[in-house]
Amino acid sequence: MEHSSMSMAQAGSGQLDPLSSVGRPGEPGAACTPARALAELHAGNHRFVSGTPRHPNQDADHRAAVADGQHPFAVIVGCSDSRLAAEIIFDRGLGDLFVVRTAGHTVGPEVLGSVEYAVTVLGTPLVVVLGHDSCGAVQAAKAAAGTGSEPAGNLRAVVDAVVPSLHRAAERGVEGIDEIVDIHIACTVEAMLDRSPVLAAEVDAGRCAVVGMSYRLSAGGVRTVAAVPAAMAADATPARAAA
Ligand SMILES: [Zn+2]
Repeated sequence: MEHSSMSMAQAGSGQLDPLSSVGRPGEPGAACTPARALAELHAGNHRFVSGTPRHPNQDADHRAAVADGQHPFAVIVGCSDSRLAAEIIFDRGLGDLFVVRTAGHTVGPEVLGSVEYAVTVLGTPLVVVLGHDSCGAVQAAKAAAGTGSEPAGNLRAVVDAVVPSLHRAAERGVEGIDEIVDIHIACTVEAMLDRSPVLAAEVDAGRCAVVGMSYRLSAGGVRTVAAVPAAMAADATPARAAA
C-alpha cells in the first residue's frame, strides 16, 4: 500500500502561533495541514520539556467557546500509561486533541472507529501513535512470550495485540525493551492503515498523516519513529523550524 502522495513542502515553514492559529473556535480542523498540526504538537512538547508551558485553551472563556462544536487538530492514539497524558505533554487544552488510549496503544475496531470519526467527520488532519519507553504492556507481552504463560482475563487481548510486534523485533534481532517499543509503535501505524481503508484513503488523498512517536518518561520529549507519508518523519521542532 502506497501512502506517499502528499507534498510536505510546507513542513517547518512560517511562523506558528499555537495559541491563535490552531484550535480556534469556529476554525475547522480541515483548514489545518498535517505538517502544521505536527509542528504545533512539537512546539507544545518543547514548551513542556523546557518547563515553560502556556496551558492554552484551558480557561472558562475557551471552555464556553468550544461547547458548541469541536475541531481538534490531532488525534492521539496513546498508551494508557498514567504518565502519558496527551494534553499535558503537548501543552494543549480543550478542543485541541482527540485522544484514544489503550494499554500499549493496541488498536481494535472501537479504536479505529474513533480515529475514523475524528478524521472524516471532524476533519482532523493528523493521527499520532504515542508510545513510550519502559512500556508495561510491551514488557508484559515480552514476559508472557518468554515464559509461555497466558495472562488472565482480558489482559490477554492486550498481550496478543503486541505479539506481532515482538515477532517483528525477533526477526531483526532486537531485544531491548525500548527498541521493541519503537518497533511496536511503527507496527501500530502500519496496522491502523492496513485495517482502516477509510484512514488510508484520507492519507492517500493528502488530507491526513499518521505519525508514530516515542515519549521518554523522564525527559518528557517525543521522538518520531515512523510516519506516513515518510516526509512527516522529520522532527519539526521549533529550533529546526526557525533554521
Ligand atoms: Zn505503555
